[in-house]
Amino acid sequence: MAIDRNHLLLGLKSLLRYHQASGINTYPKSTDSEAFLRFHPVPSAVPQPVVQAEPPGSRHGAGRRSIEPPEKSPLSLAEIAREVASCHACDLHKQRLYPVAGCGPDKVRLLLVGDWLASDEQGQLPPGQIFGVEQDVMLARMLAAIQVPVSSVFITNVIKCAVPATCQPQANHVQSCVSFLRRQIVALMPDIICTMGMVAARATLGKSLPLSRLRGRVHEYEVSKDMKIPVVATYHPTYLLQNSEMKTATWADLQLLARELQ
Ligand code: SF4
Repeated sequence: MAIDRNHLLLGLKSLLRYHQASGINTYPKSTDSEAFLRFHPVPSAVPQPVVQAEPPGSRHGAGRRSIEPPEKSPLSLAEIAREVASCHACDLHKQRLYPVAGCGPDKVRLLLVGDWLASDEQGQLPPGQIFGVEQDVMLARMLAAIQVPVSSVFITNVIKCAVPATCQPQANHVQSCVSFLRRQIVALMPDIICTMGMVAARATLGKSLPLSRLRGRVHEYEVSKDMKIPVVATYHPTYLLQNSEMKTATWADLQLLARELQ
């Protein structure tokens, strides 16, 4: 019971910080919210420690198109990673091979978002992967082609649990997990986001169009009414490994991304 309460408080704190950074400062009055405010929870027998937030750093990236960055980053990347590591929000945690919050510096111009990380057919997955063994090699080559060092980019997935190849994440898993991505975007405030794969494009853009109709142009991710981050959608390295004929289209997307980064 005490653990549940602590979990609830951490989740509430994280959500309120996300709202604060996104510019949400009013909440609609409803009978549900009034009932919630009248509710008096029974105190836990043993008080649980609450993780203290680390002081947020400056998130000013060069060349950003936004008008003003949020005053504060609501949650540091390290805090988000800790939440991911202990997350039980959906049933994928039962098959989790390891948590994959993402990797990269906390100040970047480019955020790359993939779909999810899966093992090979034998269930093998070496530690430290983001998109997969061969996929990460291909990704490094793709970035090198537009002269972007991998070390300068933050790379993550929509689904933060690495799972066996036999496990196919569903829409409800994306729905449960996408708040981590949103909080990472607010923490990083990159100049541009590149989504790789259909799940990544749809989850980031909130659209259900096929990837073939989402790629090839620049979209916007709305952090707040005054702050929008450009988004370029392209194919996932896994898809390119299986469909080499799509490399031409992907190269066009990468060139679009390079132009936007300039
Ligand atoms: Fe939590 Fe996401 Fe893993 Fe589901 S997939 S358990 S929401 S981290």
